[in-house]
Amino acid sequence: MDATIPAALNCTLSQVGPCAHCRRPCHRYGKGASPLCRTCRTEREAALQAAK
Ligand SMILES: [Zn+2]
Repeated sequence: MDATIPAALNCTLSQVGPCAHCRRPCHRYGKGASPLCRTCRTEREAALQAAK
């Protein structure tokens, strides 16, 4: 895995895992983690806003 990914995500390599939606590496485990990457999370929030 690209060693620059944890630095870019502001987490450790052991906390990096595939996004549940797009399978790209994201901060998947541990404190402050999310099953979705930042991009998918933003898209989901936008979709929720649009659905209101
Ligand atoms: Zn994603």
